[in-house]
Formats: sequence, structure tokens, C-alpha cells
Amino acid sequence: MIVATGTKIVNGIAIGKIRIYKAPVYEISESLVNDPIPELNRFEQARLKVQEQQHVLYEKALKEAGEESAGIFEAHELMLDDDDLIDGCKEIMAEQNHTAEYAVKEGFENVAQMFREMDDPYFQARSADIIDLKNAMLDVLLGLDPDSLQGTEPSILVAEDLAPSETVKLDKSLLLGLITREGSSNSHTAILARSMNLPTLIQCKDIRDSWDGKFAILDGYNSCIYIEPTQDLIDTLTAKHNEDLKKEALLQELKGKSNTTIDGRTVRVYANIGGPSDIGAVKVNDAEGVGLFRSEFVYLNSSEDPSEEAQFEAYKRVVETLAPKLVIIRTCDIGADKTIDYMKLDKEENPALGYRAIRICLTRKEFFKRQLRALLRASAYGNLGIMFPMIISLREVRECKEILAECKRELEVKGVKMGHIELGIMIETPAAALCADELAEEVDFFSLGTNDLTQYTCAIDRQNAKLEPFADTHHPAVLKLIKMTVDAGHRHNTWVGICGELGADPTLTETFLRMGVDELSVNPKSVLPLRKIIRSIDLSKE
Ligand code: PEP
Ligand code: MG
Repeated sequence: MIVATGTKIVNGIAIGKIRIYKAPVYEISESLVNDPIPELNRFEQARLKVQEQQHVLYEKALKEAGEESAGIFEAHELMLDDDDLIDGCKEIMAEQNHTAEYAVKEGFENVAQMFREMDDPYFQARSADIIDLKNAMLDVLLGLDPDSLQGTEPSILVAEDLAPSETVKLDKSLLLGLITREGSSNSHTAILARSMNLPTLIQCKDIRDSWDGKFAILDGYNSCIYIEPTQDLIDTLTAKHNEDLKKEALLQELKGKSNTTIDGRTVRVYANIGGPSDIGAVKVNDAEGVGLFRSEFVYLNSSEDPSEEAQFEAYKRVVETLAPKLVIIRTCDIGADKTIDYMKLDKEENPALGYRAIRICLTRKEFFKRQLRALLRASAYGNLGIMFPMIISLREVRECKEILAECKRELEVKGVKMGHIELGIMIETPAAALCADELAEEVDFFSLGTNDLTQYTCAIDRQNAKLEPFADTHHPAVLKLIKMTVDAGHRHNTWVGICGELGADPTLTETFLRMGVDELSVNPKSVLPLRKIIRSIDLSKE
């Protein structure tokens, strides 16, 4: 048995034969032509044909993977109208007398290289889209058959890398799982794999051609692939796979249904996300909105302080794609366990009790304003909520609101469009829970961050594994603070949600509903299991 590891994109188990996919090798002549006109015509015909193909892929992706994934192909259609890209190719034909194939190879590669050199990982990942289009153009120009990917038997497809168009062309009924040597979790192939809920590993560096045709098990839970596994392993993982299939089928039936108890109480179930790459998971799991977008991941994923523009793009993408669903973006919650070199934060004795989250934002005002401006601009594209983390006092909330108003005024002067914003704070310190009555007057909603609320209430460092024996996630003091917060919020017309891990704890769902919690925001995979529990609860019975 051989075991190889990678980075999992999608959990789950795939069992079957390996099929190694080899991308076609394009042989492109460098010889020159006398008359560039026929080459320019061939180029134009190929461009229109590929645009048409991208439209067909758009329709296919729309059906199979949803709107966000389909948008990739709509963007491809537009890229093929891009003057810089197209004029670059035309110049190579008209001025250097090269063939259409050569012009495509050079022209598209130049633009892909430009994307690769950008700092923002989102734009870096777009180079793969340009290469994908380049290959589609070359397939047409060279008359190659691009559909020889899968064979006829269901298999686990193994490739160096896969372009988005290759991924969406795959026949799902023949596809058990996906493994690539390259790829990034931001790539569109990863986005597509997530929205197709396909067990997927990327960055699997030990892929071998000799695996072709061999029996294997892709174990997404443990981020590995077993080639020719032992019988014991086959039995164990087959049982786990069957269990997954059963659970999945039951959960799928709950899509589109309401989160309503037997006696008619409805609670909103939202998803927690870390960035635009989680949009597919929100949709596939049928979350009604996003209750916590941890915006610090936008900062953590960047090698330097992200610009207002880069942030705006990320927030806009989530808000716009998920509209009209409410998307609550938490302002940067950096510090404690989430450190970033470019922030140049000092080492501290007690980082969890230290200079973090809103404390950084309120003392680095320009840094904070850059994020708030990006958020305000994104609000024009959908239904946005903003919430502030680690609040302990009324003074902090008022200061945040003043800075937000200042940003709004600055943008208004410039005539920037903005939408309505729901404003909230996280209740994750005992101080905030105990002052909830005063705080509620200032905001539209509270979101209970039970991870930190538990840590600060019980004085248990959430990072310290040694303290596990002392930890009680259901500590009565925490539950009392939650109840106090809900009651205080409701006294002032402020709705109250839970976005900490406790929100997904099925043993507490009924308790939270009885407390009157309005919203539970959980990891996307927990949305449907939670719906199942809510629908089985009867609050009319003691
Ligand atoms: C929390 O503290 O419960 C929370 C949701 O925030 P984070 O886990 O990101 O600190
Ligand atoms: Mg927290």
C-alpha cells in the first residue's frame, strides 16, 4: 500500500480506480507567415468559438455548481473581449508575422504572467483562468479534441493541475474524487470542487504516473490517498463512506425547508466564513446568510497590509454574490493567536488579554478607516452588516460609530454609492454581556462570540491544550451570560445571534431556542444538520 498526502479542499471519501489525466502537449511552430490577414481571421474565428464554448460551460456550471461557480465562465467570456489581451495577440500576428497559434501562446502567457506577479492571491489565481483560455484557443486552432479527459469508467481523477473549464466539463457521474499536484485553495478549480462537494486533495506532491488504473481510496478526512489499500482499510473506509452517503441523502432533503420547530418557532441559521472562497459552501449548504465573515483572513492571506481596493473587491464579491442574503462582516480581529508580520505587533505577556481586535483598530485609525471605507463601498452591492469584535464598553462602540460616520461623510462627498447597513457588536467579553442593556441602545444586533466569552468568563486560555480537563463548554456562567444578553437585546429591539462554536452544538440548540436566540451562525457544513435538529424540537413540551 502507498500513502500520499495533500491539502484537502473537500472532506469525504472516494473509492475506486485512479485515472491519470495528462494535459495535451501543444506543438507550436515558430515559423513566420508572409500574409498576416488569414492568421488574424483564424484568430478571430477561434476567439468567437471559444466565447461560445464558455457560454455553454456557463449554462452547465449554473445547473451543476450554482451561480458563483458559473460566474467564472461569464468572466472568461468577458476576458476574451479584453482589449489589452486581444490587441497584444493581434500585434504579434500583424507586426511580427507570427501564426495565430504562436500569438495566442505568447499573448495569453504575457497576461498570465502579469497576474502571477500581482500581490493579491485572488488576482494571482486568475492567471490560471488566462491559461485555461489559452488552451481552449489552442484546442480550436489546432483542431484538438478537448473532451478526452475521463474515459468511460467512474474514477478518481489525478492531474498535475486542472483548469476551471476542464473541471466543469467533467462528467460528474464518472467522477469519484479529484487529486492535483498543484493548485491553490483560492483557485477556481478548488471553488468548483467545493460547490460540487467532491472529495478533493490539492498539493499532493507524490503523485506518480504508475498509479494509473490502480485501486485507491481518497480519504479527505485525513487529507491522504491510499493506493492499493489493505482489506482492513477498505472495510473501515467503505463503512464510513456509506454512513456519509446516508447522512448526505437525508440532509439534502432539507434544502429549501425552513428552520422551524414543530410548534412553529423559526430561527435563522447563517454560516461562518473566512472569505470569498467560501461562497460556494454557503450556497450548497443552503445557509440563509452569513453571520460571521472573519475579515482578518483577508489580512492573513495577504503578504502586506491589504489595500482598500483589494478589501473592497473581496467584500463586494461576497456581498454581491450572496445578495439579497444578509452578510455580516466582522472588522479585523487580529492579535492573540492571529498574528501577522506586517502588523509589527509587540510580543506580549498575555496576548489574549492584550492589544488585539478593536483595540488595534481604535489606535490605528487609518488602518481601521481603510477597512470601513471598503465595507461602506461594498454595501452598495447587497445586504451588508458590520460588527465590531472584543467590545468591552459603550465608549468603544460610540467611537467605532463616529469613525464609521466620518468614513461615510468622506465617501458621500465623493458621490460614492452606499447601501443600508445593519450595525452590530460581538458579545464575547463578560464586560459586554453585563453591560448589554446600555450597548443594545447603540446597535441593531448582538452576536455572541462564545469561544472568547467562554475563555474570558472561565479564565481558560482557549489555546492551551493543558487546560482541557478544566474546560466546561457548557459552563452555567456562560449560559447565564448568554441568556442575560438575549434578554437585554430584546428589551431594546436588538436581535441576538450566536456565532461562536457553541451555536453548532446540537445538545444546546433547544436551550438556545428557549432563551429566544434569533440566529445561529455556524460553519457551513453544520447548517443542514442544525436544521434537522431544529425541525425535531417542540418548544410547547417541557
Ligand atoms: C468567538 O470568539 O466566539 C468568535 C466567533 O470569534 P473568534 O473565534 O474568531 O475569536
Ligand atoms: Mg472571538
